[in-house]
Amino acid sequence: MTSNTAANVSSTSQNPLTPPEAPIMNVEQPAGASLIGGFLENNPYFQAGFGLMGVGVGLTILRQGVVLGTTALRRRMLVTLEINNKDRAYEWFLGWMANSAASTSRSKPWMRSHQLSVETMIEQRKNGSSSALFKLVAGPGTHWFKYDGAWIQVKRERETRSMQLMSGVPWETVTLTTLSRDRDLFPKLLSEARDLAMRGQEGKLVIHTAWGTEWRPFGLPRRKRPLQSVVLETGISKKIQEDIKSFLQRRQWYADRGIPYRRGYLLHGPPGSGKTSFIQALAGSLSYDICLLNLSERGLTDDKLNHLLSNAPERSFVLIEDVDAAFNKRVQTTEDGYQSSITFSGFLNALDGVASGEERVIFMTTNHVERLDPALIRPGRVDLSALIDDASPVQARTLFAQFYGGSEDISEDEVQRLAKTLEEIVEAERNAGRRVSMAALQGMFIRNSAKDAIAGCHELFVAKRT
Ligand code: ADP
Repeated sequence: MTSNTAANVSSTSQNPLTPPEAPIMNVEQPAGASLIGGFLENNPYFQAGFGLMGVGVGLTILRQGVVLGTTALRRRMLVTLEINNKDRAYEWFLGWMANSAASTSRSKPWMRSHQLSVETMIEQRKNGSSSALFKLVAGPGTHWFKYDGAWIQVKRERETRSMQLMSGVPWETVTLTTLSRDRDLFPKLLSEARDLAMRGQEGKLVIHTAWGTEWRPFGLPRRKRPLQSVVLETGISKKIQEDIKSFLQRRQWYADRGIPYRRGYLLHGPPGSGKTSFIQALAGSLSYDICLLNLSERGLTDDKLNHLLSNAPERSFVLIEDVDAAFNKRVQTTEDGYQSSITFSGFLNALDGVASGEERVIFMTTNHVERLDPALIRPGRVDLSALIDDASPVQARTLFAQFYGGSEDISEDEVQRLAKTLEEIVEAERNAGRRVSMAALQGMFIRNSAKDAIAGCHELFVAKRT
C-alpha cells in the first residue's frame, strides 16, 4: 500500500496540471489507518474470511436466482391440481392409485415411496363374522407416478392443527403436478378414477354411516340381496314395494300440492324376522343406498340429527333401527360424565324437517312397537306400518324350498315333501302357542342337511313372546 502511494505521488508529480496539494491530501493517511491496513493485508485469516464471505454472498445470490428461476419455470411450465378431502374426487383418486398399485408392479412407481398409508375396510356381518381388507394408499408425503407417458408428482398433505369442525377428520389435500403440456391428463385421470369407483359399486349396495354431520360409505359395497330371498308373510313385500314405487313416481304430484316429498315406513316385529334384510334388499332392488342412523350414538345431538336427515345422499333410504331404544334423554358414560343425546321432540322435528322438495325416505324398525309414542307413528312421520312376524307355516316352507331346492344331493320332490312337513310342524307348534324366528330357521338350514333340519327343528320353537 505504501508503495502504491509512492507510485501515485510520483505520477502526479510528473503531471503539471495537477495541483500540488491534491496528492498530499489523497495519499496522506493517519498513522492508525495504515496500521489497520497493514494488519488486514498481512492477516491471512481476514483474507480467507473475506473470500468466504464473497463465496457466501455469491451462493446466496445464486440460490435466490435458482429459487426465482424455478418459481418462474414452475409457473410457466408446470400445472398443479389440488383436491381436498371434502371433495369426492379425493377418495376416487386415492382409490385409483391404490388400484393401479395392486395391478401390475410396473404401474405402481409410487409403491417405491416410503410413505404409505393403510386403509382398512371391515365388513361386519349379521352372523358376527367379519372380514378385513387392507388397501395400501399413498401416505402423506411426495410420490411420483407415470400416467399416459407423463410423470406426475403427488403431494399428500395433512393439516394437523385444524380439523373438520363436525367430523373431527383432519383436513387433507392431494396436489398433483405435471408439465403444462400434459394438463389434459388431469380430467382424463379423474374420469378414470371416478369410473373405477362407480364400477366398484355397480350392482352393489352401499351403506353409509354418520361421521359427525356427514354421511360416509361404511365398509365395502355389498352384493345386493335378491328381494325374493327375504321371505315375508304373503302380500307384505308386494304391498311395501308398490307403495314405495308409487311414491317415487309422484315427485311432481307432491310439488304441485306443496307437500314435503317424504315417506316414512315402520317395520315392527320380533328380532330375526327379516326387517333389516328386507329393507336392504328393497334398497338394492331400486338401486338405492342405505344411510344407517343409530339414534343412540354417542355425541349425536338434535342439531346433528337434523343436519344428517336433511343431507342424506341422493337416492338413499335412511334406516333407523330399534327406534324405541333411543330416547333415554341422558346417557351416563363412565369416563366423561353425562353426555347429552337426542331428545324425542328433537327427533320429531328432524323427521318433519324443513319443507323442501328433496326426496326423503325413512325406514324405522322396532321390536317393540307398543313402546313407541303415538306422536311418532302418526301419518306424515310413519305412512306405512307393517308387522314382520316370526315364521308363518308358509314362510317356513318357502324358505326351506329356497334353501335346499336346485341341489344335486336331493330330488326336487323330496324337497317339496320335506317342505310340506315343515309347514305342518310350524302350524302345529303355532297352535300350541310356540314360534320360531326366520333367523333361527335359516341358521338350522345352514348347518344341516334337509332331513336333519326337519328332524332337529323342534328344538327351535319357543313360547310366543308377549
Ligand atoms: P331383523 O331385522 O328382523 O332382526 P334380520 O333382517 O336382521 O332380522 O335377519 C337376521 C338374519 O335372519 C339374516 O341373516 C336373514 O337372512 C335371516 N332372516 C330373517 N328373516 C328372514 C326372512 N323373512 N327371510 C329370509 N331370511 C331371513
